[in-house]
Amino acid sequence: MLVGNAKFDAFLGRIADVLKEADGDESQVIERGREILSDLVAVDDWLPPAFSEAHPEHFKQYMLHKEPRFTVLCVVWGPGQSAIPHDHTVWGLIGQLRGAERTRNYEDPVPGQPLKLRSEEVLRPGETSVVAPSVGDVHDVENAIDGVSISIHVYGGDLSSLADRRHRYDAKSGEAIPFITSYY
Ligand code: FE
Repeated sequence: MLVGNAKFDAFLGRIADVLKEADGDESQVIERGREILSDLVAVDDWLPPAFSEAHPEHFKQYMLHKEPRFTVLCVVWGPGQSAIPHDHTVWGLIGQLRGAERTRNYEDPVPGQPLKLRSEEVLRPGETSVVAPSVGDVHDVENAIDGVSISIHVYGGDLSSLADRRHRYDAKSGEAIPFITSYY
């Protein structure tokens, strides 16, 4: 147990139950998983300090849970930190635990054309967002406050093993950039 508290363990159990009950129905996983993640990030009283340290130069990812069916990451953003547009290739749920993050969601990229903005949102504590090939998989993220922001991410796979099929994108040219994932 990386996190080792009852609240997080209960969350993992609820996600595992949903995956089992949904039996491959991704829309059900997203809908019910989002409710469960909302509950987890509604009260900021469970994340151990070891997983809440920002890196001085770039956003930092901490793996909180990993199993074949899903992974849970904690992403910590220092002031001014951001991530360029990227895809995920599996469903992903994002729950804001602390601070605020601005996310721009883009239409599916067309090679050689600038990315087209689909929607923009600022996530605040307790709020959730979704990425998935079925609902829109490309977004960028930036810390929206002059302090540390933290979000909890649940993915239907291990992103570190998907690096060779994921992409980052230049927003202006639409050009795909090979993805390199590391957990810093
Ligand atoms: Fe993302």
